[in-house]
Amino acid sequence: MNFFTFFTYLCSMNFSSKLLENAVNEFSRLPGIGQKTALRLVLHILNQPATDVQRFSESLMKLKSDICFCTVCHNISDQVICEICTAPKRDKGLICVVEDTRDVMAIENTNQFNGVYHVLGGLISPMDGVGPSDLNIEKLVQRLQESHVEEVILALSATMEGDTTIFYLYKKLKDFNIQISTIARGIAFGGELEYVDEVTLGRSIVTRVPYERSIA
Ligand SMILES: [Zn+2]
Repeated sequence: MNFFTFFTYLCSMNFSSKLLENAVNEFSRLPGIGQKTALRLVLHILNQPATDVQRFSESLMKLKSDICFCTVCHNISDQVICEICTAPKRDKGLICVVEDTRDVMAIENTNQFNGVYHVLGGLISPMDGVGPSDLNIEKLVQRLQESHVEEVILALSATMEGDTTIFYLYKKLKDFNIQISTIARGIAFGGELEYVDEVTLGRSIVTRVPYERSIA
């Protein structure tokens, strides 16, 4: 089957049930899931015991209704203040700024970082209509004003958007009496943090460099 025939096949997928079609359409709205994969998943779910399906759907509903964002670092959390921010052993004077919760998880998995985080909730991307005010940047500034912070590590993806965001943050934070670092570029340009192996990411955190030196 060539691509054109396959595409026509997908467009003309005939369902024997409207309920089946609705479920497939919902699944195919998920990132990376085409209609064919969606159909396979839906048929799999259909074969599961009703209790399993109920547990699956309840976990999604509960995720959406009960999840909150830490009021300090904005990471996804079950509590108002997350476990990392409340842990007494974490160094509150060292803040690692990341794009989203996947990066927090990736850095935590390296076991190389003992500070706390600040989750921006995205990167500045004019092409996608994301500006500084759409991100948790003012909250970061506020955090630096209200608590004693010695160093901020800008651990953002080595992409155009990551670099733009780092530059913006640097301008915003440079007048504070703090060290501003970026992670060492053992990470290839274009590389997204969540896909970097743990050893490389861990080493990049340990051998971070002051931002001024990284652009020299
Ligand atoms: Zn937190």
